[in-house]
Amino acid sequence: MKVGVLALQGDVREHISALIACGINPVEVRRPSELEDVDALVIPGGESTTIAQLSEIFDLYQPIKNRIDAGMPVYGSCAGMILLADSILDAKQGQKTFGGLDITVRRNAFGRQVDSFETDIAFADGSDQLTRAVFIRAPWVEKVGSGIEILATVDSHPVAVRSKTLFATSFHPELTADHRIHRYFIEEVARPALEKVK
Ligand code: GLN
Repeated sequence: MKVGVLALQGDVREHISALIACGINPVEVRRPSELEDVDALVIPGGESTTIAQLSEIFDLYQPIKNRIDAGMPVYGSCAGMILLADSILDAKQGQKTFGGLDITVRRNAFGRQVDSFETDIAFADGSDQLTRAVFIRAPWVEKVGSGIEILATVDSHPVAVRSKTLFATSFHPELTADHRIHRYFIEEVARPALEKVK
């Protein structure tokens, strides 16, 4: 499976390392030809407004939307979650997303940079071990549409959700040594979706 990391802004290197730890040989995606070459994509944490703007400048905005519509598996962490959401609250004026996940997210819902925090959360992948979750100016999910599965919550706010092919977390598993969330994306979201296409 060829997995790309959208490498326009944000913590690209950390996602690359986490994917390598999961046995994947990821590639950085900055051009349409590189996007065409991958089976699945990770959208990193960073700044969602900047990533959206850069994706237009790099001629990736519409191609990413098209691939999402065509069923490409995508994982978005934090800013990546915002970019996968169909609708955003507290968005910057004119802020665009790629969309595809039938959720409404609230940007910076947990507060500003100084309100960043880490906590252990339960993640519904069948394990009863908690996972360390790092929240940095993180969004939460305020509304989910039908067909969206909630995989983790903090104070009853969903912070990990998925549809058939799209997966998003408010937190940053790429900043911890625990690669369970990336492994979940590869084994439980991307692989089954790609096997179906074959
Ligand atoms: N608040 C940022 C945004 O709106 C996301 C922060 C992050 O990815 N750590 O894009």
